Amino acid sequence: MRIDVLSIFPAYLAPLDLSLVGKARTAGILDLRVHDLRDWTTDRHRTVDDTPFGGGAGMVMRPDVWGAAIDDVLGADERERPARLLVPTPSGEPLTQRTAEALAAEQHLVVACGRYEGIDARVAEHYGADERVRVSEFSLGDYVLNGGEVAALVLVEAVARLLPGVVGNPHSLVEESHGEAGLLEYPVYTKPPSWRGHDVPDVLLSGHHGRVERWRRDEALRRTVLRRPDMIAALDPDALDRTDLAVLEELGWVVVDGALVAR
Ligand code: SAM
Repeated sequence: MRIDVLSIFPAYLAPLDLSLVGKARTAGILDLRVHDLRDWTTDRHRTVDDTPFGGGAGMVMRPDVWGAAIDDVLGADERERPARLLVPTPSGEPLTQRTAEALAAEQHLVVACGRYEGIDARVAEHYGADERVRVSEFSLGDYVLNGGEVAALVLVEAVARLLPGVVGNPHSLVEESHGEAGLLEYPVYTKPPSWRGHDVPDVLLSGHHGRVERWRRDEALRRTVLRRPDMIAALDPDALDRTDLAVLEELGWVVVDGALVAR
């Protein structure tokens, strides 16, 4: 997969040389290119922003600079292949594990990191009308950051770890929070079995695979009820077994007209 990240602070993306993403780059699994947006400016001051039409506070990033940069990273040949243009913005669609999974199946992602009051709206409009480019404006959450670089780091990490060969044991991706089960992950423990008076639950030391599995499932249900009831409400009751439903009932969730609702 190829990912291009465009930013006026390319040094912000340095952590992408580290850990699993760094290894994926070295191994050739991920062709990640970080660019300085100012390389596409044409004036002496390397200006990327200007005052907003209509007035108001702050500055807006110029569409001509962004257009030149995006055209270049899409490339003449690449224009024949579909690419995704990802624009971080607090007004975008929330980034989820489903989004990351869909993006991991793409060949080419371009991430446009905004600063100031954001990027002139015509950039998303222009590339959105190009059938070879799919534009997604995405948000990390309901808060405002200073720039899109942190969002680009998050996106690259969430997508890269889903590429085959990046995470050593692919099974560890299956049971994670926000996976296919639609639950948060159960609590995890390691040695020592007793630490500062806190003991690892006996069942995990029992060696009984079936009981461990059931305990983990129950704990995942419990944790999700407590922390993310919205995820419980989104579960398909037909995908749950009788024990799941009994645990949920104990926690105050019952099936009404084919959906889980809090009593
Ligand atoms: N004026 C914009 C608004 O109110 O929607 C906020 C601009 S913010 C100060 C500057 C840049 O930070 C944005 O263009 C975007 O790239 C990034 N950003 C800020 N918050 C974000 C979030 N929650 N998710 C993704 N990107 C964000």
